[in-house]
Amino acid sequence: MHKIPDVVIIGSGMGGSTMASALASSGTEILILEAGDHLIDRPENKDQRAIFQEGYFRPKETWFEANGEPFNPGNYYNVGGNSKFYGAVLVRYRKEDFEELHHAEGVSPAWPFPYEELEPWYSKAEQLYAVRGSLGEDPSEPAHSRPYAFPPVPDEASIADVRSRLLSHGLHPYSLPLGIDIDQWMSKRKTPWDAHPHANDGKMDAETCALQDALKHPNVRLQTNARVTRLMTGQDGRIETILYQQEGKEHSLSPKLVILSAGAVQSAALLLRSANARYPNGLANRSDQVGRNFMNHNSSAVLAISPTYRNTSIYQKTFGFNDFYLSDGNGGPPLGNVQLLGRVSGKILKASMPLVPEWLLNQISHHAIDFYAMSEDVPHPESRIMVDGDRIILQWHRTNWDAHLALVEKLKSILRQIGFPIVLAKPFDKRTPSHQCGTIRIGLDPAYAPLDVYCRAFEHSNLFVVDASFLPTSAAVNPALTIASQALRVADHIMKKDLAA
Ligand SMILES: Cc1cc2nc3c(=O)[nH]c(=O)nc-3n(C[C@H](O)[C@H](O)[C@H](O)COP(=O)(O)OP(=O)(O)OC[C@H]3O[C@@H](n4cnc5c(N)ncnc54)[C@H](O)[C@@H]3O)c2cc1C
Repeated sequence: MHKIPDVVIIGSGMGGSTMASALASSGTEILILEAGDHLIDRPENKDQRAIFQEGYFRPKETWFEANGEPFNPGNYYNVGGNSKFYGAVLVRYRKEDFEELHHAEGVSPAWPFPYEELEPWYSKAEQLYAVRGSLGEDPSEPAHSRPYAFPPVPDEASIADVRSRLLSHGLHPYSLPLGIDIDQWMSKRKTPWDAHPHANDGKMDAETCALQDALKHPNVRLQTNARVTRLMTGQDGRIETILYQQEGKEHSLSPKLVILSAGAVQSAALLLRSANARYPNGLANRSDQVGRNFMNHNSSAVLAISPTYRNTSIYQKTFGFNDFYLSDGNGGPPLGNVQLLGRVSGKILKASMPLVPEWLLNQISHHAIDFYAMSEDVPHPESRIMVDGDRIILQWHRTNWDAHLALVEKLKSILRQIGFPIVLAKPFDKRTPSHQCGTIRIGLDPAYAPLDVYCRAFEHSNLFVVDASFLPTSAAVNPALTIASQALRVADHIMKKDLAA
C-alpha cells in the first residue's frame, strides 16, 4: 500500500522534476503525476527523417487560434517534459532582465525581486544540471558566485573558424552554457542534440538530472500516463482534491500541497478549467491574469551560406553573442540574443522545403552555418490562453516584432561581411511554442499577479505553480535554467514554511 502523498507535483518537466529533487530529502511523501510516458531508447531517436519530416514524436494534439483555426503545437508530453527535446542551453537571465527594460515596442517590467535574489539558486541549478561553460567571454554576463563545474563544450573546427571571424569583426562570441556530456552523446549518436529526443545519452535534462535522483528516495513516486483534469477547492479556499485520468479511469487525491508544473499553456488551461461557483473565472484568477501575458520568443532560423565554406560539424551549437542584447549597438533599444542552432541537415531542411530534393538540401547544408536569433516578447494582456471545454485556444499577440526583424537584418549584414554572401531567414511560429511562458505570473500585488514571489497562489495557500508560467518576462535568453533556479528557491521556501515539523 502506498501512503497518501503530502505533496503532489503535476508534471515532471523542468519545474516539476527540479521541485521533486529539491523536496525529496525532506522525507515527505511526494507523488508526481505525469501525463506522458518514458521516452525510451529507440531507433527513431536518431532518425532525422522520423523526427523532422514524419513528426514521429510530435504529440497528436490540436490547439486552436482565436478564429477557430486548428494547429498542431510542438509541445511534448513525456517524463522530463519539453526538456527531453531541448537544446540544453542553460543560461541565466541578464541582471538587466530583472529590471524595467524599454523595448522598441513596450516595456518589459521589473521582476518583483532583483537578480541577486536568484543568483545563489542559479549557481545551484548549474551544479544540478552539470552545466558546461566559461565565464568572462560575454560582456552582458551577470555576476556568478561560482564558476561552472565543467569546461565549455568545444567548438568543432568549422565552427571555431566562424567564431574567430566574428571576433575579428569586433563581436564578442561566448561559449554557450550547455547541459550536455558531449563525449557520451557522440559515443552513442552522431547527431546534434537540439530538438532531438533524449533517452539516456548524455543530455542533462529534467529526468536525468533531477527526477532520477529524486526517485531514489523511498518517499518519492512517479505515476506516468496520469493526466490531471481538474483541481477542486474546499471551504477554506485551499485545493482539496486533484482529479486525474489514468488508464481510462478517474482517480482523486487530496494532498496537503499541490505543485502545478504542467507547462505555461497546460497549467493555465487547468486553472481556467477548474472554475467553480466560488471561483467563476478559474482558480487563482482574481486578478484575471491567468492565461494572459502569454509570451514566446520572437525567433528565426538564419542560414548563412558560402560556396567556399565547408561545415564539417556534427553538433555545431557551441557559441552565441549578445552584442545587441541591451541595445542595437547605436544607443537604440534592445534587439536580442544570437546563438547557433543545432546543425541543420538536408533531412531537417526537407521538413520545411518538401519540394526540394534532399540531395540538394544536403549540398546547401554542407556550405551553411545555422543561427538562431531570439528577441524578447513583452507581456501583453491580450496575448492569452483560453479554454472552451477541452479545447485550448492560443491567442498569441506577438510584441516587439520590428526589433526582431532589426536583429535578423543586423545578423544577415554581419554574416555577409564575414564571408557568407547568401543569408536566408525563416521565423518560427505558433507551432513552435518552445519558450512559452508568463501565463500565471509572480508579483507583489494580488491585483496584478496570481502568484506571490515564491510561486504560491495568493488565493489558495496550498497551491504553487512552478513552471514557465511564473516568468513575469521572457527576456531574450532560453528559459529552462531560470525555471529550475526558481524551483530550487521555492522548494527551499516550502521546506522552511510548509514542511517544517
Ligand atoms: C525543441 C525545444 C528546444 C528547446 N531548447 C531549449 C534550450 O536550449 N534551453 C532552454 O532553456 N529551453 C529550451 N526549450 C524550452 C524548455 O524545454 C522549456 O522552457 C522547459 O522545459 C519548460 O519547463 P516547464 O516545467 O514549464 O514545462 P515542461 O518541461 O514542458 O513540463 C511540463 C510537464 O507537464 C506534463 N503535463 C502537462 N499537462 C499535464 C496534466 N494535465 N497532468 C499531468 N501532467 C501534465 C507534461 O507532459 C510535461 O512533462 C526548448 C524546448 C523545445 C521544445
